[in-house]
Amino acid sequence: MQVVRRPILFLSFDLDVDSAEAYRKADPVARSRGRFAARRGLGKVLDVLSRYSVRTTFFVPGWVAENYPELIERIISAGHEVAGHGYMHERLDELSWEAENQVFHKMVKEIEEKTGKKPLGFRAPYWRWSTNTLGFIASYGIMYDSSLMDDEEPYIIEHRGRRIAELPVDWRLDDWPYLEYYRSLTPRELLDMWMDELAYVLETRGYVALTMHPQCIGRGSRIKILESILRYALDHGFWLPRGTELAEAVLRGKG
Ligand SMILES: [Zn+2]
Repeated sequence: MQVVRRPILFLSFDLDVDSAEAYRKADPVARSRGRFAARRGLGKVLDVLSRYSVRTTFFVPGWVAENYPELIERIISAGHEVAGHGYMHERLDELSWEAENQVFHKMVKEIEEKTGKKPLGFRAPYWRWSTNTLGFIASYGIMYDSSLMDDEEPYIIEHRGRRIAELPVDWRLDDWPYLEYYRSLTPRELLDMWMDELAYVLETRGYVALTMHPQCIGRGSRIKILESILRYALDHGFWLPRGTELAEAVLRGKG
């Protein structure tokens, strides 16, 4: 990594919709909460991104591409990247080798069918890998992963002669636990915490990955968090790459 560079904000969205709820056959209300992403949340996120001319990455389960092709169309036509996020948002560490292979196969197939391109990025649902996941990432030709939590800088994983860029993440930098799962912070408190993080990354010329979910950040006034983040990052000269752009830079040694 270079010593002097622009601070990096890898802003990405996990478009789960109701894939996890469909997989575990959840009740209609739980599924409706996920579908908020399709009916309302994604549109609000895309509007904000377009207003600030930011193109970013959406991690999408293959099942969502298959069942909501119009969402993929909207993401692609706005110039964003679609990367893989399982097939039905499975916990990969609970699957056999064969079942996980099917997940990767169907994820790549559905995304390729709907976007015309194989996904180059991958993020494990629930950020859980099995002991086979890295092998599948390598064998399905994926250029970067964004699931691990062992660094605050992107880095390279070497696996069976292949080089894969890792764009690390952190649960603190995800809207889901604070606003949906534990509901432990108000949106204002979450924004405060993330603003401190951005200020730190600006000072250290570092890297931060913020993960948001259209079904979470797109609800009501929470969307203002996204606007505040973008305004700060753009005003302070952050680089906001899509996953593939950052991964290419990392693999070239210029991240
Ligand atoms: Zn997810």
